[in-house]
Amino acid sequence: MKLLLSAPFLNGNEWKYIQDCLDTGWVSSVGKYVSLFEQQVADYVGAKYGVACVNGTAALHISLMIAGVKAGDYVILPNVTFIASANAIKYVGAEPILIDACAATWQMDLDLLANFLAEKTEIDAAGNCLLKENKQRISAIMPVHILGNMGDMTQLLAIAKKHHLSIIEDSTEALGSTFEGKFAGTFGTLGCFSFNGNKIITTGGGGVVVTDDERLAKKAKHLTTQAKSHKTEYIHDEIGYNYRLVNILAALGVAQLEQLPHFLERKIAISGCYNQALSSFPNVSFQAVLPQVKENHWLYTFQHPQAQELLKYLNQQGIESRPLWLPMNQLSMFADAIFVSEKNISAHLYQTCLSIPCSVNITAEEQAYVVAQIKNGLSLT
Ligand SMILES: *Cc1c(COP(=O)(O)O)cnc(C)c1O
Repeated sequence: MKLLLSAPFLNGNEWKYIQDCLDTGWVSSVGKYVSLFEQQVADYVGAKYGVACVNGTAALHISLMIAGVKAGDYVILPNVTFIASANAIKYVGAEPILIDACAATWQMDLDLLANFLAEKTEIDAAGNCLLKENKQRISAIMPVHILGNMGDMTQLLAIAKKHHLSIIEDSTEALGSTFEGKFAGTFGTLGCFSFNGNKIITTGGGGVVVTDDERLAKKAKHLTTQAKSHKTEYIHDEIGYNYRLVNILAALGVAQLEQLPHFLERKIAISGCYNQALSSFPNVSFQAVLPQVKENHWLYTFQHPQAQELLKYLNQQGIESRPLWLPMNQLSMFADAIFVSEKNISAHLYQTCLSIPCSVNITAEEQAYVVAQIKNGLSLT
C-alpha cells in the first residue's frame, strides 16, 4: 500500500470549469474565474476583499509591502513555521524576530512575546515600536496558524495594540479555522491563504490576500499586476510584480471551494478516528486546541518521543510521513536572528512531532492500516 500525506481531491466541478476556460479561450491572467475566486474566498471568511496571487508566498510578500513593513524593520514571527513566512520578511528587507512555540498548542508563545515586547521595546515620539538595544523599528507581527490550529487571538490583538504593531496573518494552512466564530485570516490588517497542492483546497499553486481595507485591496491588485496605471498605455507608476493567478487555476479554485464544507467534515472525521486509535498508545500526545478554536484539521500531526525512528519506519512501509519544519533559528540564513525562548520548545517539537496521511479521501481501512503500522513501528523502537 502507498499512502500520500495530503493529496488533492478533485471530484467536483474542476473539469467543467477548466473546460469552460479552454472553450472560451480565457486561460491566462484575465477571466471571470479570477474575480469569482477572489470574491468567494473573501466571502467565505467574511472579509470584504480578496486579491488572487500566484502562490501563498507571493501573497505574504505583497501583504508585508502594503502593510508598510520597510527595509531595516523587524517583524515578529513564530520560530516554528514553513520557510516561506520567513523568506517573505527577507524579501522586503526586514528581519524576523523569532518567538518560540507554546508547548501545548504549538503556536507562537504569546506570553513569551508579551514579556519580550514589554522588556525590550519602547514606543518613540512618532508612535513606532523600537527595539531598545539598537532603536530599530518593529513594524508587524506575522502569526502563523500552523497545522490549521490557532493561538489566543484576543491576547494577540491586545499585544499588537499595546505595542503599535500591525498584524499580517499567515493563514495559509488555516482556511476554515475559526477563533470565537471568526475566521483565520480576518484578525489582522491582511490575511494570506495558499492553495498549493497539499493545502486543504488547491489550485495547483495559488494564493489569496484578504482584507477589509479597500485601499489595501486596490494596492495589492495593483502591485500583483505590474503596477500598470493606464488602461491601454504601458504606463507603470512603481515597481510591480507579475504575481497574478491565471484563470484556469482560479477555475480549479472555484470548484474546490464548493467542496470545502465537505472537506472540513472529512478532516474532522479523519482526525477523530486517529485520535481515538492513537490515544491508547503509550507516550502519544496531541496538540492542545483552545476552547475558542475550531481548527480545520488540515494536517494530522501527533507527538511521540520516538517520532524520528517512527518516521523512518512509516516511510519505508509506503506511508508518507513528515516531521514538523526544522525551526527557523536552526537554518543558516536565520541563525543570527533574535530568538526569544526559555526552553527551546521548537527544537523539542521538531524532534517529537510527525504528520501522517490524512487526505480527504483516505478510507477507514487505510487509516486502520496506518495505525497498525504505527503500532508495529513503536514496538520495534
Ligand atoms: C504553504 C505555506 C506557505 C506558502 O504557500 P505557497 O502557496 O506554497 O507559496 C506559507 N506559509 C506556510 C506556513 C505554509 O504552510
